[in-house]
Amino acid sequence: MNTTETKGIALITGASSGIGAVYADRLAKRGHDLILVARNVDRLASLARRLTSDTGRNVETVQADLTSPADLRRVEDILRTNTGISLLVNNAGFGATKPLLASDVDQMEEMIRLNVNAPTRLTYAVVPGFVSRGRGTIINISSIVAIAPERLNGVYGGTKAFVLALNHSLVHELADKGIRAQAVLPGATATEFWDIAGKPVHQLPAEIVMSADDMVDAALAGLDLGETVTIPSLPDQAEWDRYEMARRTMNGKLSSAIPAPRYDVRQHSGLSM
Ligand code: NAP
Repeated sequence: MNTTETKGIALITGASSGIGAVYADRLAKRGHDLILVARNVDRLASLARRLTSDTGRNVETVQADLTSPADLRRVEDILRTNTGISLLVNNAGFGATKPLLASDVDQMEEMIRLNVNAPTRLTYAVVPGFVSRGRGTIINISSIVAIAPERLNGVYGGTKAFVLALNHSLVHELADKGIRAQAVLPGATATEFWDIAGKPVHQLPAEIVMSADDMVDAALAGLDLGETVTIPSLPDQAEWDRYEMARRTMNGKLSSAIPAPRYDVRQHSGLSM
């Protein structure tokens, strides 16, 4: 495919491997020019060469360690100043499988910097331009551990719950300004993530592991359907809808001047009678 018309530029973080590299492939084939961000410049360059030759799209690469404040600011500047950007994929991230007692808190902090701080700052950088242009899309790669934090390392689950919560707020605040936000909650996906997280993917039951190609194709199909949260593995969308409905129904009861009766606060504080 070699069309000249562009759907705008997609900036993808963590595009040098795994899920991000598949997004790069699919978005180029959909007509986006690309800015690919990661640390491994050789991998980025080879992916950029292949995609340019396969699709004719313009593909730039940016070497950046998104845990480094200076590198992160460089990517923020691109998002603020390049008015051709129409899509941000907040994808770069890493996880861990060990529980708290076996984990290193410095590594947990680095995870928070990459999985939480980077997508936050990049989102803040891109949104004002999207709003002034009246359009733009942000794809936020969360995880099923956002709603099932017991499955892997708890801090990893917490970072992905943050991404999901941020996405809810983006939909709430920006949908009426022409901005789309989608949180993607992959289950286990066959990438290098698992080696880095400390459990090679071949140790997982094959029936719970999706290919990165299928995961991204399902997530983009979810985007096309207008979903704001996409769980590629979940067979019945109604289950998520019920979960969301329960959360929203509780919303009106979450703040009150009076403690819930089950805490019996008046009696305990001696105010009863
Ligand atoms: P991956 O193949 O390890 O990809 C991670 C990407 O992030 C790589 O491109 C890596 O590139 C980049 N990255 C890592 N540290 C970085 C840093 N400090 N600065 C900039 N880029 C950095 O794993 P993946 O599975 O595709 O992961 C992508 C996203 O999916 C992550 O957010 C992960 O949490 C999420 N996810 C994965 C799974 C799964 O089972 N695989 C499930 C749910 C969610 P460089 O090393 O070149 O920097």
